[in-house]
Amino acid sequence: MRVAIIGGGAIGAACAMFLRRLAPHADVRVIEPDPTLRLASSARSAASIRQQFSNALNVRLSQFGLQVLREAHDWLAVDDAPLDLGFVESGYLFVATGDAGAQALRDNHAVQREAGAPVQLLDAAELARRMPWLRSDDVRLASLGSGGEGWFDGEAFARALARKARALGAHWHPARVVGFERGAHALRTAQLSDGTRFEADAFVLAAGAWSHAVGALAGAPVPVFARRRTVFVFSCPTPLPRTPLVVDPAGIWFRSEGAGFIGGWSPGAHDADPDDLPLDEPDLDQFEQRLWPALAHRVPAFDALRRSGAWAGYYEVHPLDHNGLVGPHPQCANLLLACGFSGHGLQHAAGIGRGVAEWLVHGGYRSLDLTPLAATRLAGGAALVERAII
Ligand SMILES: Cc1cc2nc3c(=O)[nH]c(=O)nc-3n(C[C@H](O)[C@H](O)[C@H](O)COP(=O)(O)OP(=O)(O)OC[C@H]3O[C@@H](n4cnc5c(N)ncnc54)[C@H](O)[C@@H]3O)c2cc1C
Repeated sequence: MRVAIIGGGAIGAACAMFLRRLAPHADVRVIEPDPTLRLASSARSAASIRQQFSNALNVRLSQFGLQVLREAHDWLAVDDAPLDLGFVESGYLFVATGDAGAQALRDNHAVQREAGAPVQLLDAAELARRMPWLRSDDVRLASLGSGGEGWFDGEAFARALARKARALGAHWHPARVVGFERGAHALRTAQLSDGTRFEADAFVLAAGAWSHAVGALAGAPVPVFARRRTVFVFSCPTPLPRTPLVVDPAGIWFRSEGAGFIGGWSPGAHDADPDDLPLDEPDLDQFEQRLWPALAHRVPAFDALRRSGAWAGYYEVHPLDHNGLVGPHPQCANLLLACGFSGHGLQHAAGIGRGVAEWLVHGGYRSLDLTPLAATRLAGGAALVERAII
């Protein structure tokens, strides 16, 4: 079996690694123009992992991601070399200030508990007792993960997956896919920027925020778009304990990062969210207008915070339902999609890679059924909704 994986971020690398684990004789080529991952979302992410989703499949994908992070040495070490992914288990806290938000937390809580996630609901009094640094007088309900949530080094994770995949026999090809030759229902070869032509039995589309463009080259529409998100770095003169990743109904999030903090703003349904904005221009106005006021409201000590940096990366947004597309493209049988994770793809990379490998080797999923992520839902319009989007 010859497989060409397009994109060598965390998802492409995970597909390559699991494929070589499952099929040691498969010819696995990862086509990635930038081995430094300079623009890749995997290296520009907030790199956090949570179990607090509204959809049970997302909870289960995170649980496998968690297993790989906790047992990183077993899954990813090469030649027993030390491996530090900087995994910090510090929880997520979702805050609701209105009735609808509180009900959504209760509904999500039921799904999460059913899936075995250790989460608890806190009322305002309990929240104030546990986190006196956080404003809670306007809080209706909060949901706190009490294990299995936190953050890690996203770039180190993507590189560790790639290193392990290579050690298992996958090959990286430093070029960009610039075209395809295809028959009526399937792709035959990928044409690369260095003039190479790659013949393969299957092509895995793991080009993150660039998946729409690669799909167009294949004549197969892929509704996954590059939406810029800015992460701000700041410090607080008042010492605070390490915070969980706090998700506030004002559309903002923040968490501890070393001795300081990072945070960002997520556009709501009525905010403009254009495609392909340049990554070398983080949106600094967002900090003044959106983030800082909301941070200072939720944590009074943040009124005196100092911003020290910012970076921007692309969410690979699948607008239909903010969930990934995994499996064969409906109009191109050997183009396997692994894209569109809309801001939660890093924590799910291991589960997606394992599923894609199972599908290629066995013709179906064995460990966790990823059928609900199939791209057939594009045609039917049957969305797989995830309500807990950050
Ligand atoms: C600011 C921010 C915060 C985030 N926070 C989180 C978080 O807390 N938790 C979480 O789980 N996820 C988070 N995400 C999302 C997460 O980073 C992505 O879902 C994940 O990294 C996607 O991995 P990927 O390998 O698909 O894409 P990428 O890492 O972007 O890799 C895609 C690769 O495809 C390559 N490529 C592009 N075009 C071509 C071509 N024509 N030919 C060959 N290769 C090509 C690119 O060079 C790139 O390296 C965040 C993202 C951002 C931007």
